[in-house]
Amino acid sequence: MKVLVSDQIHGAGIELLKKEAEVEVAIGLDKEELIERIKDKDALVVRSATKVTRDVLEAAEKLKVIGRAGVGVDNIDVKYATEKGVIIVNAPTASSITVAELTMGLMISLARNIPQANASIKAEKWEKKKFLGIELRGKTLGIIGMGRIGSQVVKKAKAFEMKCIAYDPYISKSVAQEIGVEIAESVDEVYKNSDFITLHVPMTEHTKHLINKDAFDKIKKGVYLINAARGGIIDEMALYEALKSGKVGGAALDVFEKEPPFGNPLLEIDNFIGTPHLGASTEEAQRFASTIACEEVLKVLRGEPPLNVVNMPRLSPEVLNRLKHHINLAETLGTFAIQMVEGRIKDVEVVYCGTLAEEKHKDILTNAILKGLLNEILSESVNLLNAPVVAKNRNIRITEGKREDAGKYDNMIVLRVKTDLEETVLEGSSYGIETKIVSVNGYSVEVVPKGRMLVVHHEDKPGMIGGVSTLLGEQGINIGAMQVGRKEKSETQLMIIFIDHKVKKEVIEKISGIEGVRKVFSLNMGDENESY
Ligand code: NAD
Repeated sequence: MKVLVSDQIHGAGIELLKKEAEVEVAIGLDKEELIERIKDKDALVVRSATKVTRDVLEAAEKLKVIGRAGVGVDNIDVKYATEKGVIIVNAPTASSITVAELTMGLMISLARNIPQANASIKAEKWEKKKFLGIELRGKTLGIIGMGRIGSQVVKKAKAFEMKCIAYDPYISKSVAQEIGVEIAESVDEVYKNSDFITLHVPMTEHTKHLINKDAFDKIKKGVYLINAARGGIIDEMALYEALKSGKVGGAALDVFEKEPPFGNPLLEIDNFIGTPHLGASTEEAQRFASTIACEEVLKVLRGEPPLNVVNMPRLSPEVLNRLKHHINLAETLGTFAIQMVEGRIKDVEVVYCGTLAEEKHKDILTNAILKGLLNEILSESVNLLNAPVVAKNRNIRITEGKREDAGKYDNMIVLRVKTDLEETVLEGSSYGIETKIVSVNGYSVEVVPKGRMLVVHHEDKPGMIGGVSTLLGEQGINIGAMQVGRKEKSETQLMIIFIDHKVKKEVIEKISGIEGVRKVFSLNMGDENESY
């Protein structure tokens, strides 16, 4: 077996490879050289510098696997690799401890003014009084996002005798119990009670500027804030004002909206600490990234199943081709549902109806549903292979059933998502390339979900449609299409509105305030023109 390592990775991974394969390490290759050297290789190991483009993959006649010593795979043409049957593996857990440790470092630096004191002593000053600090012991730490890194931070903070409260609306209480952390019912609870707040959420539409002026208004005076997750989760201008006014006692950021943050006024503030995106930069994290990726590559070469798979070429192209529209439907149902559910997901029940009842590969469809449900909320990429494992780690129970009857449709998927608060039931059907949602919580509709949508649950009385559309019109929001779903006997209706743009939170609040409106959900079913 021949392996090419084309980026600088920790030597420990290369040593592992050498035990079982012929390894060529060639760093800084230009495209032609890469194309030449990849021709006879069974595996390629990269970080982010090597661009594994279509022409490189075309030349790679024997390639079976690409190992990415890290997480993101933006440098690899994943779609073409999948078409060619090349498996991509990565190392998503490699830096969790490292980032958690940096978080603790930043927390202690804030509590004891270490960077400022260091700068002072180097300027030949002895300012003992100026740098009076506080202890971590007995303080409340609010953790927003309880995934891989957030849960490691809890472990470490407990060793410092801190009281931990966490906000993560997507983890189940049983997972929180296993970690041993008190779960806050709302983010406001964290704002109100925490002496330190640390962020460990992915960057999504919902977490962009999560910590903004509104949040600072609710936060306990003098709070210390840490962000080693992603730039942009904190509104930096609002943070600047909050530091200036003393509302925030100190802040430490490892990540910035624009990196490097040169010219950022935060850098001029005394009680602000910055580090240059060092979160994953330790010897150990580099070593783990390298050994995990290389071990995964070797598993594929040996014919064993890898753990961290990014794509899914091992499913037969024939099956994928036959199921592709149903997979699309399944994923759409998951994406639709996660934007409507309230509470922590406990159970996902799927019933396959009509022609899908006898489908042999229902598991692929269930995985596609989980992919839709989980991709919105996690920093790792959830795919058709790893989805059940990710769901299991979050204590989500999954059940599959089947039913001959699909009503007036040829095929139908019924998805029931149960949380600790309620349940959401969606029914969808695919017809050719068209994916339709045909029922939402028992309301019959017929919508092809795409772009931006509002789902408004309201009382069945005159003027409701007019009220909502007038309000949207006043806000300059154009309605592309609208549908009202009814139940046979019900005092309420469901309005589904297609709109051209994202609706601000304030507008959603105004719609919720219209008399007779029960609930409003703002859905993004794939707006390619927007980024956050
Ligand atoms: P993860 O996917 O394991 O966990 C993310 C958690 O956030 C999940 O439990 C999810 O349920 C929760 N979440 C999602 N939306 C939320 C919301 N609106 N409110 C509260 N919780 C929400 O991710 P991870 O591996 O723990 O990584 C956390 C963050 O750290 C990511 O942003 C990642 O990019 C970042 N990171 C930074 C560095 C660095 O160099 N500084 C290195 C690695 C990871």
